[in-house]
Amino acid sequence: MSSYHQNMQQSDKGQLALSGKEPLPCPDCGKVSLIRVKNDCTLLDGTVVPNLERLQCSSCKANFFDVPAMDAISAHRRKISRKDTDMQSRKKQDTKIA
Ligand SMILES: [Zn+2]
Repeated sequence: MSSYHQNMQQSDKGQLALSGKEPLPCPDCGKVSLIRVKNDCTLLDGTVVPNLERLQCSSCKANFFDVPAMDAISAHRRKISRKDTDMQSRKKQDTKIA
């Protein structure tokens, strides 16, 4: 039973559920130094989300996203992927006309 519990914990890693209770200990360094920040955030894949409100560890600078932050990230991803498609189709059209 204990191994099952460990597996559950592992699958939850990276999808930290924040209940809104602060301060929280940082899962990376264990220090209770999570602060709410709002500024440009560079994601692991290099995507920059402008003015993203999230929790950040003031000790190790790890970012943690609650539900509104996750929503903002997915909304931003949709926005930039749409922009890419627009630009590509416009480029194609330009080439056709030229
Ligand atoms: Zn930390």
